[in-house]
Amino acid sequence: MFVDSHCHLADEAFLADLPDVAARAREAGVGQAVCILSADTPEEHAQVAAVQTAWPGVIFATAVHPHRAGAYADRVGDAVSAVRDTAMRVGARLLGEMGLDYHYDFAPRTVQQEVFAAQITLAVELDLPVAIHTREAAGDTFRILEEAGAGRVRGVMHCFTGTALEARRALDLGFYLSIPGIVTFPKAGALRDVVAGLPLERILVETDSPYLAPVPHRGKRNEPAFLSETVRQVATLHALPVEVMAGQIQANFDRLLGAPRVDTPSKPVF
Ligand SMILES: [Zn+2]
Ligand SMILES: [Zn+2]
Repeated sequence: MFVDSHCHLADEAFLADLPDVAARAREAGVGQAVCILSADTPEEHAQVAAVQTAWPGVIFATAVHPHRAGAYADRVGDAVSAVRDTAMRVGARLLGEMGLDYHYDFAPRTVQQEVFAAQITLAVELDLPVAIHTREAAGDTFRILEEAGAGRVRGVMHCFTGTALEARRALDLGFYLSIPGIVTFPKAGALRDVVAGLPLERILVETDSPYLAPVPHRGKRNEPAFLSETVRQVATLHALPVEVMAGQIQANFDRLLGAPRVDTPSKPVF
């Protein structure tokens, strides 16, 4: 079975056909998925019940995305409250995605940094792993994570497309690297070289759907069912059978999440 460590099933792109998307994912062998829920987007919150109904195995993650950080200048506490409240309500097993985006710069960089750092502190307090979004901001992203302290904050670099040096810094922090469908793109030779050198026990994969569809679906709306293309590519790079790579990724994912929280409903025992 495959596990999609990052997708946006509550996005409006899936409003019309969520049950079909979930059914195709199951048919494609994707047994689990992390649904990223924007902590301060009511339209996404309204989709939570529909996501759970369509795909009961979905795990939620929530945070304030760096694109939305600008709303919290001088009131970072409100961002933290939104994340805390949403995480409790949906039983989030991760906090994410959070981080820095200097490519789009939708929010002032200093505000992005404050909102990011505050959410890291919350994750440490709640003892939850984080999913990090970083774009053209590696220096500040690693500085903030390193200031929080290696070993205190744990998590995954989502949509990892960085250099070998950036991979090394993430690995030194104890982080996992989640590889997106970009690794299948013809021009992604440099990324394939980096992925080939990663330790097997730190690799995750993701679709980031509805964005970034892998080859041969490129240009279409992405969905969790397309994850197999990415697993296949990563398996090839490590010269492993797909099933072996998938089993390794599942074990990595389970290790990232750690033991189920005590408030997780358990199956009846006979
Ligand atoms: Zn992202
Ligand atoms: Zn995302």
